[in-house]
Amino acid sequence: MKKKEFKSSSKRVLDLMINSIYTNKEIFLRELISNASDAIDKLAFEKSKDAKLNINPSDFKIFISVNKSDRTITISDNGIGMDEEELDKSLGTIAESGSLRFKEENPDSKDSEIIGQFGVGFYSAFMVSKKVEVISKKIGSDDSYIWTSEGVEGYTIGKATKKENGTDIILYLKDDTEDEKYSDFMEEYTIRNLIKKYSDYIKYPIMMEVENSRLKEGTKDEYETYTEVQTLNSMKPLWKKDKKDISEEEYNNFYTSKFSDYEKPLKVIHYNAEGLENYKALLFIPSHAPFDYYYKEYKKGLELYTNGVLIMDKCEKLLPDYYSFVKGVVDTDDIPLNISRETLQNDRHVLGIAKGIETKIHSALIELLTKDFEGYKKFFKDFGNQIKFGIYGSYGINKDKVLDLLIFYSSKKKDFITLKEYVDSMKNDQKEIYYACGETVEKIDLLPQVEMVKEKDFDILYLTDYADEFTIGAINTFMEKTFKNVCDSSLDLDTKDEKEELSKLNEESKDMLSKMKDILKDKVSDVKITDKLKNHPVCLTSNGAISTQMEKVINAMPNSEKVSSSLTLEINDSHPILAKLKDLYKDDEKQFEKYTKVLYAQSKLIEGLPIDNPTELSNLVCDLLSK
Ligand code: ADP
Repeated sequence: MKKKEFKSSSKRVLDLMINSIYTNKEIFLRELISNASDAIDKLAFEKSKDAKLNINPSDFKIFISVNKSDRTITISDNGIGMDEEELDKSLGTIAESGSLRFKEENPDSKDSEIIGQFGVGFYSAFMVSKKVEVISKKIGSDDSYIWTSEGVEGYTIGKATKKENGTDIILYLKDDTEDEKYSDFMEEYTIRNLIKKYSDYIKYPIMMEVENSRLKEGTKDEYETYTEVQTLNSMKPLWKKDKKDISEEEYNNFYTSKFSDYEKPLKVIHYNAEGLENYKALLFIPSHAPFDYYYKEYKKGLELYTNGVLIMDKCEKLLPDYYSFVKGVVDTDDIPLNISRETLQNDRHVLGIAKGIETKIHSALIELLTKDFEGYKKFFKDFGNQIKFGIYGSYGINKDKVLDLLIFYSSKKKDFITLKEYVDSMKNDQKEIYYACGETVEKIDLLPQVEMVKEKDFDILYLTDYADEFTIGAINTFMEKTFKNVCDSSLDLDTKDEKEELSKLNEESKDMLSKMKDILKDKVSDVKITDKLKNHPVCLTSNGAISTQMEKVINAMPNSEKVSSSLTLEINDSHPILAKLKDLYKDDEKQFEKYTKVLYAQSKLIEGLPIDNPTELSNLVCDLLSK
């Protein structure tokens, strides 16, 4: 028997398990039971495809036994089993290297978060065991194998003599310490409670030999003990139970154990559909995004059961992309068991169910938004980007399905509002929905263009997400209103008189402005005098589709073709700098050029754009300071 090493990433997760100070060690049992149940699911699925397979589904069970003198707990299943290679692969490497990436990216994360997040499954056995043996026989194979490990040092795999297909996991409990009484896990009472708490819904019987006492035959007061095998779980899947019989805690436990989350769900959606499509759905909106949510590897989907058999653990077609965060189970008898994965994706029942699910999720979110806005904001912080992506990713095709779920920060309310709320409170003379973009609310608030629009008492939506402008672009119009970036050069809030006045001012200084444009060459497409500014001397506005913020976003993307927005430098008509410029233009060409360059750089700084030539700017400023 050769000693093998764990993959280095597994070693670290294992180490985390073994030395964990995680208080919730009891979850090891639910993890192992859940693996056992999965293994039986897999065999049930094989059987559904191949009726000749010599197994009887009514024999499926999970068995728990305890040997107090050896300090062992054994969890056995008669599921699909593992062959030598599978033992090596499945137990030698942890499936999700995600836990490590998470730990690297979040060095301060707590054990509970990592363990919860990844449900590190099988390895959780090491939280309570000093040694673990796995004896397994794969269905259809003549050989059985034993995998043994005492922790990070490694594991061995050898031949075994198991007769029936399935897997026995034997845990050699750690010694009791002052803080941890591992021997408690061997008590019938503890095991019973843990199964009720976490694994009640498992659809195969979880059995255990228990001691009972009874009156001795032929006596009146003499008792004898005897053992009997009892089923400890109710076996009724939670989603098949009546809603009114399910406590919040049951829902929460089901969710956290089944979907490996350490936090209870934000919202539970449980319903029974009858009619065109007949199915039961138990769905959850998580209260936070899983660590890998915005990575490519994340796969959306719901568990799909038909006729009591799990036929797909992530049926993608049941969820639109913009609800990819939803977790849950769908159970229907309408879909034939032996359907192939490819056909399943286009099955009319699946598509019909998906439609129903989408409607339910939407109304659940609207309910959250109207009844628990704080909860909704939390939801939106984590998943709003996905909903926005649903809009711009489809170039607006799906927008009507989710537009009412969008919220943006409002300058007036100083809180988030929906687009409808914005339009409903628009001023009579306001034609467009105003927005401004920047990295944070505070930074946007400092933009010179924002100041003036606020001064005129218009509300502005502050867009702080990289996806926001693309989203607005894809929405195009909302309740017949178009959107306008307040930093766009075409923003026009002036009365007719004001316009005339401004155009006169620009006309008078035509030569000077055009000289400035020459100095700045191709950096700006125009220089003009504006009445949009209150205190700031200058600002940059963009013309056309690409705003300065969008330029930043696009250019920060890897592999993107660099873009630049077309910019106008605007000079405040009521700022003393204008008079100064006019003087210099007349008398001092050199100085005029320097002023122009500095003002341009200033306007870029305010926008948060990089300065083209910081050295030149620094020299110019010093030069002016020392005058
Ligand atoms: P997960 O269950 O999330 O895949 P685990 O670490 O719990 O991760 O298990 C790793 C793999 O080991 C499983 O995916 C499965 O292939 C295999 N496995 C674990 N327990 C059993 C079992 N009782 N029967 C068959 N295979 C098992």
